[in-house]
Amino acid sequence: MSILAVLEQRSGQWNRMSFETLAAAQQLAKELGTTASAAVLGHGVEALANELTSKQLERIYAVEHELLQDYTPDAYCAALGQFVDQFHPGILLFPHTYQVRDFLPKLATARNRVAVSDVVAHRIDGGHVVLVRQLFQGKVNADVRLAGESPHFASLQAGAYRADQVAEGTAAAEVFHPSISPAQIRTTPRELFRESQRAVDLGSADIIVSVGRGIKEADNIALVQQLADALGGELAASRPICDAGWLPMERQVGSSGQTVAPKLYLAVGISGAIQHLVGMKGSRTVVAINKDANAPIFEVADYGIVGDLFQVVPELIEAVKRAK
Ligand SMILES: Cc1cc2nc3c(=O)[nH]c(=O)nc-3n(C[C@H](O)[C@H](O)[C@H](O)COP(=O)(O)OP(=O)(O)OC[C@H]3O[C@@H](n4cnc5c(N)ncnc54)[C@H](O)[C@@H]3O)c2cc1C
Repeated sequence: MSILAVLEQRSGQWNRMSFETLAAAQQLAKELGTTASAAVLGHGVEALANELTSKQLERIYAVEHELLQDYTPDAYCAALGQFVDQFHPGILLFPHTYQVRDFLPKLATARNRVAVSDVVAHRIDGGHVVLVRQLFQGKVNADVRLAGESPHFASLQAGAYRADQVAEGTAAAEVFHPSISPAQIRTTPRELFRESQRAVDLGSADIIVSVGRGIKEADNIALVQQLADALGGELAASRPICDAGWLPMERQVGSSGQTVAPKLYLAVGISGAIQHLVGMKGSRTVVAINKDANAPIFEVADYGIVGDLFQVVPELIEAVKRAK
């Protein structure tokens, strides 16, 4: 049961999650006593594949075709389908990116398989691979046991595996040329969406006070702003706050927002979903205020206050002012 990490690139640049997938594939292969390989799809991706020859991999495949230059689900599924038919990988691991979410269910369903999405961990149980997914905002972990015929397909949540744990070694690279015709492709790629330049650089802030849905209303954010001001820190937020337009997108922390590593990260009314944690777990000290003692944020918090933020935050503001 060999493992294949299917890596993502765009315009010749690696998606940073590709290396997390590579690390996961290596770990899983080691635990199963098998080999890990990697594949990268695109046009002119041989040089990228060659960059991986210093990694501990059985083989690296540049899946090369001019119709893979711009992403389309039809071309990606055609190419990967042919790849699977030729090389028979046992488990294919993907980074859980927007692109993978777009084509992986189609690829898996076409082979009567399921795509196990958003995996945060794995273990081996009696020789079987068990993949862990989070449900109900991270309150419940579900074990998914891989059963039946291979291939199996899974995508890995951002931050679940560490890119800096990719093992070094040697690997041979080869090119795989799938056969794809323009008639197979039913979508026309347009110009890529580019985010506007950010005005706030949370990445360089020493103190961040971050607010979540526990704040209940937009008007209440002023309270958390006062705490940020008292501490001399920047205000940030979880995604629902930015989605609601209560704070600008550039203040969002998490897998689809900014990654921050301040000296102090104060999470106010934030549950601690994995997508939020991956953006802030590099913080030196994490303080969480949450009325739910079982909120996942407490798992990464150095200091936790179980209580109502509307009582705790005003008292903290007073305490900070007094201390100053
Ligand atoms: C593809 C994708 C990408 C995502 N990207 C991101 C991202 O970049 N960043 C991000 O943050 N999320 C992201 N999410 C969303 C993420 O899954 C969670 O839904 C989100 O982080 C939850 O935000 P929250 O903690 O503010 O809200 P909730 O999960 O609703 O938590 C609110 C918390 O406030 C507490 N609370 C309520 N009232 C009070 C009170 N009076 N006092 C104290 N505590 C109180 C509750 O106990 C609860 O724990 C993403 C999701 C997906 C699917």
